[in-house]
Amino acid sequence: MNVIELCSNLVSFRSITPNDDGIAEYVANFLETRCGCSCTILEFQSENGVVKNLFASRGDNNKPSLGFIGHLDVVPPGDGWSSDPFCAVQRDGRMFGRGVCDMKGGVAAFCCALETFVKQASNDKCNIRIFLTGDEEIGSVAGMQSLLKWAEQNGQLPSACLVGEPTSIEVTGDRIYLGHRGSVNVNVVAMGKQNHVATAPASDNALSKLCCYISHLIQHDWRANSTRFPNTKLEPTLLFNNNYATNIIPDRASANINVRFSDDYTPEELQGIFNQYNNESLKLNFDFCGLPYYCDDKILPNILAKSIEQVTQCKPVFSGGGGTSDGRFMINHCPVIEFGLPDTTMHQKDESIAISDLQLLEKIYTCFISNYFHENYSK
Ligand SMILES: [Zn+2]
Repeated sequence: MNVIELCSNLVSFRSITPNDDGIAEYVANFLETRCGCSCTILEFQSENGVVKNLFASRGDNNKPSLGFIGHLDVVPPGDGWSSDPFCAVQRDGRMFGRGVCDMKGGVAAFCCALETFVKQASNDKCNIRIFLTGDEEIGSVAGMQSLLKWAEQNGQLPSACLVGEPTSIEVTGDRIYLGHRGSVNVNVVAMGKQNHVATAPASDNALSKLCCYISHLIQHDWRANSTRFPNTKLEPTLLFNNNYATNIIPDRASANINVRFSDDYTPEELQGIFNQYNNESLKLNFDFCGLPYYCDDKILPNILAKSIEQVTQCKPVFSGGGGTSDGRFMINHCPVIEFGLPDTTMHQKDESIAISDLQLLEKIYTCFISNYFHENYSK
C-alpha cells in the first residue's frame, strides 16, 4: 500500500476526539501484517469517555530503540468545506481531508517508511516503539500520559523518540522542532454589581475591571532573554459575559488568556505577574498544560538533519517554536525531536497537504530510520 492510499484510508475514519471509529484497529492490522510489529490496544478512561490508544513494538528490548509518537484523533471539521472532510479528495496536486496535515499524513508516512525499512533491513536492526494516541487534541490525559505510564511499567520506553507532528514551513524538510515553549491557560473572573448604565458608579462594572486588567497584561514588558525559544507571548482568547441588554451594567465577566512562555520564566513568576495587576479582587485560575522543553541531545537531531539533506539536498533549520505536543511527556525519558509536514493548514476547513510533501516525508522517515539504526548498531 502506498502512502497516498494509506493516508486516504486513515482520513475515512471519523476519529474526532475521543471517538476512535475503528482507526486504532486498522493501523494495528497494518503494523502487524506489513511491519511485523506486535500491537496492543490500550483503553483509558477520561472525563470525556474511553480513549483508545495503540502501542506497537518490534525488536529486542535490550538494544537501542527508536520511538515514534503520533495521534489518530482529529479536531471537529466545522462548516464550510468544499468536499466531505472524511473522504480524502485529490485536487491540483493536493490531498484534502480532516487530519491529512494534523496528523494522519505523518502517521501514514511513518508506517509506510517502516514497512519499506523492515523489508530491507535484517531483523535485529529494527527496534521500534510506536505510540499512537486518541486524545491528543484535548490534553492527552487518557492518551500519551497514561500510555507512557504503562510503557514505563512494562519496560517499553524507547531510547530516542521522533514526534511526527507537522513542523515544516513551506516544504517538507525545511524545519525541525527541538522543543517548544510552556503553555498556561488562565481563566479570569471579574465581579461587579448590576445597575443602570446611566447612574451606576464606575466601580460596579465587571467588564471594565476585566478589560483594564487584560490591558495591563498586554502592556506588560515581557522579557525576551531566551536563546532557545521564541519570545514569551500572551494572547487573550475569550472575553465573555451574558449581558445582552444595552442599558445594564454587567455584574460578572470572564476571560481566558493563554501565555506561551520560554525558559526565562518559571510558572511561579508568571503567576506573580498575573497577581501583581490583580488589585480588584479578580478570581484567577491557572492551568499549566506544559513546561518549556528542549532536546539538548546533539546526536538525534543531527541524524535527522543528515537524513533530510540526503533526500532533499537542503539543510533544515532547528527551532524551539512548536506548539505543545506529546513530546513534552516523553522528554523526561529520552531525547525527543519533532518533524513532519508543512503546518500551514492544521485545524482549518479544507485542511490539505501537497501530495509531493507526503511522499517526501515518507522518504525522509525511511532514511532517518535507516540512519538511526546504522548509527546505533554499527558501534
Ligand atoms: Zn497534532
